[in-house]
Order: sequence, then C-alpha cells, then structure tokens
Amino acid sequence: MSGVHDHHGSAEMTRRVDALVARLAHRGLVTDAAIAETIESFLTHAKPSNGFRIVARAWSDDAFRARLLDDANAAVAELGIDLSHWAPVTLRVVENTADVHNMIVCTLCSCYPIALLGPSPAWYKSAEYRARAVSEPRAVLAEFGVELPERTRIRVWDSTSEMRYLVLPRRPAGSDGLDEQRLATLVTRNGLIGTALV
Ligand code: FE
Repeated sequence: MSGVHDHHGSAEMTRRVDALVARLAHRGLVTDAAIAETIESFLTHAKPSNGFRIVARAWSDDAFRARLLDDANAAVAELGIDLSHWAPVTLRVVENTADVHNMIVCTLCSCYPIALLGPSPAWYKSAEYRARAVSEPRAVLAEFGVELPERTRIRVWDSTSEMRYLVLPRRPAGSDGLDEQRLATLVTRNGLIGTALV
C-alpha cells in the first residue's frame, strides 16, 4: 500500500511490502490486479465529503456529537461510513470550543485520516509543518489565516499509525436554520485538520 500512506522508514517498508507481495503472488494468493483494485476502491471511498457529513451531523444532533466524541469509530459507522478496511486504527474526534482550538499533525511521518478526508495535502506531509505545528502552532495558524484570541488554548494532536484525529470545528454563527446537507457545504478539509476555523 505504498503511496496510500507513508510510514516510518518508508523506503524499507516499500522494500518489505514488495517482497511480501511477490511471495504471495508467487503462491497465487494475490494478483497485482486485485491489489490495484483494493487500493482503487479505498481511494474512491476516501473523500472529504465523509468528514463534512460527520461534522454536519454532529452540529445537528447533540446525542450524535456526544457519541462521536466518546467513540468516533462507532459513531462514524452509524453514518454508514465503513472504516473496517482501516482497522485497527482508532479514530478520535477533538472538539473546538471558545477556549480550545485543536490541530492535527503527524510529527514522525504523515499519518492522516485518509478515509475521511481523502489523500493528505502536500503541506501536511512537509517537514516544516510537522515541526512547526508543535513548536509554534499559533504562527502556523496565522499563516493559514487563522487568528485566535490570546486566551484560546491550542492543542496539537500527534497522529500515529494506530491513532488518527479529526477536528470538530465550531458551528458557524448564523447557520441556525440550515439542514445537514447545507451545513456540510460550509465545512472545509482544513477545518477538520485544524488549520481553518470551519
Ligand atoms: Fe505518520
């Protein structure tokens, strides 16, 4: 699955995966076509609209929001978004409030909730973002155009191969009358990473 997710020591991992695939193919257990089809299927279903739907539901339904914050894997499954191919990854949703703004990073490589947001942007994988998101998150946010009050605390969540995060942005003012479909159109990918407010 190289290309889907860059892992620690990715050159070594690529070599090992290639060797494993070659042995399985040699025994007739897999074909290159079957692997390509699996990756294709994963990427077809891995799109930011999944994340937008989750946020819109959480904004509309307090009970769902509570379940989402408590056990995100189970809550996401309720929406019919299948994460089973993604196991054993634990998803945790972190909620922005007036006091706390959350942002996500993978300091070691590029772990990212691809199933819910699609492939990650280049800047997320850059060495600069991975270092500065932790050392000077407020400056990074300002470069994304996000200016937070001094009193708002910034929490940075470091993803791993087992644990992925998704930010639940604050519901925008003036969105009271909107239904879930309309709310979903307000959400942006960066909002779910924490580098935008919504
Ligand atoms: Fe990573």
